[in-house]
Amino acid sequence: MTSDDTGSGSGSELLERYGSALVQVFGTPQLVLASGHGAWVTDVDGKRYLDLLSGIAVNALGHGHPALVQAVTKQAESAIHVSNFFTSEPAILLAERILEVAQAPAGSGVFFANSGTEATEAAIKLSRRTGRRRIIALEGSFHGRSTGALALTHKAAYREPFEPLIPEVVFVAPDEPAALRDAVDDTTAALILEPIQGEAGVRELADDYLRLARELTSQHGALLVVDEIQTGIGRTGDWFAHQRSGIVPDAMTLAKGLGGGVPIGALVTFGPAVTGLLTAGQHGTTFGGNPLACAAGLAVLDTIEREGLLAHVREVGALLDDLAIDGVAATRGRGLLRAIELDGIPSAAVMVAARQAGFIVNAVTPTAIRLAPPLVISADELRGFLDALPGILATAREASS
Ligand SMILES: *Cc1c(COP(=O)(O)O)cnc(C)c1O
Repeated sequence: MTSDDTGSGSGSELLERYGSALVQVFGTPQLVLASGHGAWVTDVDGKRYLDLLSGIAVNALGHGHPALVQAVTKQAESAIHVSNFFTSEPAILLAERILEVAQAPAGSGVFFANSGTEATEAAIKLSRRTGRRRIIALEGSFHGRSTGALALTHKAAYREPFEPLIPEVVFVAPDEPAALRDAVDDTTAALILEPIQGEAGVRELADDYLRLARELTSQHGALLVVDEIQTGIGRTGDWFAHQRSGIVPDAMTLAKGLGGGVPIGALVTFGPAVTGLLTAGQHGTTFGGNPLACAAGLAVLDTIEREGLLAHVREVGALLDDLAIDGVAATRGRGLLRAIELDGIPSAAVMVAARQAGFIVNAVTPTAIRLAPPLVISADELRGFLDALPGILATAREASS
């Protein structure tokens, strides 16, 4: 690796330059990553890590998967962007494939955006076309950071510096049927929920609760919006996490894993009545649905199917079901979206110790780490982490005592 005035430097030198050149909303990043292959990433100093986070549930196929690289390369050679005055085959094919795996009824539709936040924005605008304004979200929710999506995000520290946000958002305690019954009424435009709350620490909603949410929203003419931005695209071992409960939502938001790392988001609307709520001119985006991102999305969906990754996710994910390891209090989640609740060890210390040992994990709450590895991670790779975990926890306990 060469080094010159503007070119690549060491990790610590680059991080210093990061501090002088970028807005500091992320604090100081942990590493400067240079490349990846499969479930592994390498930093600019040449150190390798097993990537158990995959860009926060984004790199579904891991790094450098040939199917994704070839799809993006080939598409870039044909057309990267055409604008929404025109369309392209990848956009149509991807919309059709999403509707198929979502088991969406005839008359359903897809609106392509570029991020999860934008998918949430589209869902908010969709909900306002009901003529109602009140949106119910759950405590612990995360739906994005724009002023609209932020209004549906529960964490006060994210919201308060930017208030006032859009009004008439109500938060209810998750997984509490009585609270939901009280909240949903004939003034409700939409109820939005994540089938597994990712940012809250991988907290699953019960299937019965999802069914109740469906029942109450149907009864009161409100939209049920499922945020599958983190849980969708095979992450839990189903195409979408809500499918296990048997419910059909009115709308679903997607992003993260959909493009395998290429930015793309989507709002899926179920059935003609909901799909017809947004009409020509009522919403838009310059980049959304561009052929490059859609070709990436197609490659991701095709590869999940061709390589049997849904079954693979269930199989290797089961290695994380119960961890009888000193320092682990509990585990949560399913498939390859998991949290390890720690027994008296700060998660930040575990994250650091894991990194030193060559594993990337995320301190999702002060007491839990999150694992969201690429869907292609092998059982042996995951076992490598589990074998190292007792040592990592011991080091972290030592460092924090
Ligand atoms: C990441 C995430 C979002 C926001 O997506 P961005 O692409 O960061 O805008 C929204 N909802 C959930 C559940 C997420 O995990």
